[in-house]
Amino acid sequence: MSHPAHKSNAELGLAVHKHLVSKGLETPMTDLVTSQTAEKKIKKIAPHFEKIMEILGLDLTDDSLEDTPNRVAKMYVNEIFWGLDYSKFPKCTTIENKMDYAHSFVLERNINVQSNCEHHFVVIDGLATVAYIPKKKVLGLSKLNRIVEFFAKRPQVQERLTEQICEAIAFITETDDVAVYIDASHYCVKSRGIQDTGSSTVTLSTRGLFSAADSEVRREFLNIARIGSNR
Ligand SMILES: [Zn+2]
Repeated sequence: MSHPAHKSNAELGLAVHKHLVSKGLETPMTDLVTSQTAEKKIKKIAPHFEKIMEILGLDLTDDSLEDTPNRVAKMYVNEIFWGLDYSKFPKCTTIENKMDYAHSFVLERNINVQSNCEHHFVVIDGLATVAYIPKKKVLGLSKLNRIVEFFAKRPQVQERLTEQICEAIAFITETDDVAVYIDASHYCVKSRGIQDTGSSTVTLSTRGLFSAADSEVRREFLNIARIGSNR
């Protein structure tokens, strides 16, 4: 799915980007992510993909193949890698917290993770469970899904994806206590390499109370996350 343009906050995006850079958690990227329009990127990518198809020996005069370079270029820029563009970062309106959450958390589970691995540019498909203990700010629940979606829509490694989501939520909600659990299948493992179709990769990123090995919230979170991802 492409991004909902009217619900983004470029200013917040830039702040999140700077924060991730300061933590050493940003995706390796250059200024070109922001200095070119989407249209320009599509125009520049298409002929390169055409070249790849040509070298593979595909006949680009065939009407089934002739539009593929342009389709792939559009898909890269507008549909699967738009999360490189921080001007499309989701609007995350927070409300003032009037409750004392103490040690109880807000949790969202079974969040779809549709990403692509940065080593092979093939699909990573999984589910995320996200929780945080609100301090001064509470975030709308759907915003947790939006933050996951944003960081999934770029070439990724699952470990960094998990860390980026966790750090962004901590930053936006100004809380120390966040946990992110992702269970995902990597198609570069399923369809190539060792061709293991049944395995999945689990990554966990925690902050604050969720990090303490003996903490009750960590145990509760992991119990819920494991049930949630039991597909
Ligand atoms: Zn891969």
